[in-house]
Amino acid sequence: MPDALDRAVAHARAWIAGHDTRSVAPTASYAELKRRIDVGLNDEGVAPEQVIDDLAAAVEGGLLGSPSARFFAWVIGGSVDSALAADVLTTAWDQNQGIYVCGPAASVVEETAGAWLKDLFDLPREASFAFVTGCQMAHGVGLAAARHGLLTRAGWDVETHGLFGAPRLRILTSDRAHGTLDRAARLLGFGTAAIQKLPSDADNRLPAAALERALKADDAPAVVALNAGDLITGAFDDFETQIPIAHAHGAWVHVDGAFGLFARASAAKRPLAAGIDNADSWATDMHKWMNVPYDSGVAFVKDAAAHRGAMSATAAYLSVAEEGRDALDWNPEHSRRARAITVYAALRELGRDGVEDLVDRSCRFCRDIVRGIGALDGAEALNDPQLNMGIVRFLSPKPGATDADHDAVTDRVAAAINASGEAYFFNTTWNGRRAMRVAVVNWRTTEDDVTRTVAAAKKALAEVREGVAA
Ligand SMILES: *Cc1c(COP(=O)(O)O)cnc(C)c1O
Repeated sequence: MPDALDRAVAHARAWIAGHDTRSVAPTASYAELKRRIDVGLNDEGVAPEQVIDDLAAAVEGGLLGSPSARFFAWVIGGSVDSALAADVLTTAWDQNQGIYVCGPAASVVEETAGAWLKDLFDLPREASFAFVTGCQMAHGVGLAAARHGLLTRAGWDVETHGLFGAPRLRILTSDRAHGTLDRAARLLGFGTAAIQKLPSDADNRLPAAALERALKADDAPAVVALNAGDLITGAFDDFETQIPIAHAHGAWVHVDGAFGLFARASAAKRPLAAGIDNADSWATDMHKWMNVPYDSGVAFVKDAAAHRGAMSATAAYLSVAEEGRDALDWNPEHSRRARAITVYAALRELGRDGVEDLVDRSCRFCRDIVRGIGALDGAEALNDPQLNMGIVRFLSPKPGATDADHDAVTDRVAAAINASGEAYFFNTTWNGRRAMRVAVVNWRTTEDDVTRTVAAAKKALAEVREGVAA
């Protein structure tokens, strides 16, 4: 008789097998899902395999096809086969990865995966790291280490005395910084008023002269937060120029490399991130380009002592391993999932060459989709992607159409593509105008998917434009 785990694997297989034929967009309404899922808390228990079958039936049509090949909204990866399978094992093994003695093997896997990632991204080998839930928490770890490092230099013990009465710190970044940086800073007591967002240039980069002026204008110790991969255009800050400027003013340099750090794994894309290894901390995601299941991000910190100083949580009842890694000295969490196991698996499955190929083909497919859609009658490409992030816009055929008309058509075309089930996009506002973002990070995406996606856009665009012209 099939048990619950077998049933779960069968449902998982059906979900994965359906990626190519199922609508990428959910098809069930909120009311429908609510009715099916909230059946009332039962008094008597239900057999485990029944629970699993009921659950799979209840969510039918309510799952977003984000792990599928034609999902280009936000920056969301899929799961390579070994990572998905390793996630199942991680759950079955159920190790508490807080300390070495609670999971020796998992701890060594984490130590190994962290070292392999430093190698892959060519970051300083002495850097420490933490496997966290995502890039926002990786920002939290990097900024906590920065806070510790800068305040120690200023003669202030922030772990003992907190920020009340502490020397003032500030964060300098560009207006292209991801919103998660703000939230991480807020949670650490910086407050958003401590974040100065300097205007970016036409290429979405932080101008070096403005950074230098801002550093000179105020004596307060600063964190300079730079971008490796702008969230809309994939642009990189100029690390070779900016990091030396920041360091000359005693600043700590933190890099948001949520997906952009992966440029380091590709010989072709690596020049975009030249000099990034001179930063002090780096935040990246594994659930994006590494294609492991949610949730998975990593922080790296060059000054391991600052990192450990900010995070260390060793209490008397916790045995400190003589050898092996106690993750709670590096992580914000106490008890936690053995999150690095999927990363270890994905790195083994792909190898260096596989990661490079994944990065290169994602970039090529993004460019092909942007150029392909941009060449359609009534469409325009707003960038020529240098990485895996592109933007396109659709135009109203109305004579004398205004930007607002083009905005409306852009939103209607994206909605029509999504409604077709063929591909999935999410629009943004870029330079004051609506634009459709094209993010390619999924290992499943193929040339065929590019063709199918451009065809779906062509059809949706023609329908919307006919409707507008009529
Ligand atoms: C996705 C993303 C983040 C946030 O990552 P989470 O994993 O969602 O916390 C931060 N910065 C950039 C550039 C991103 O693309």
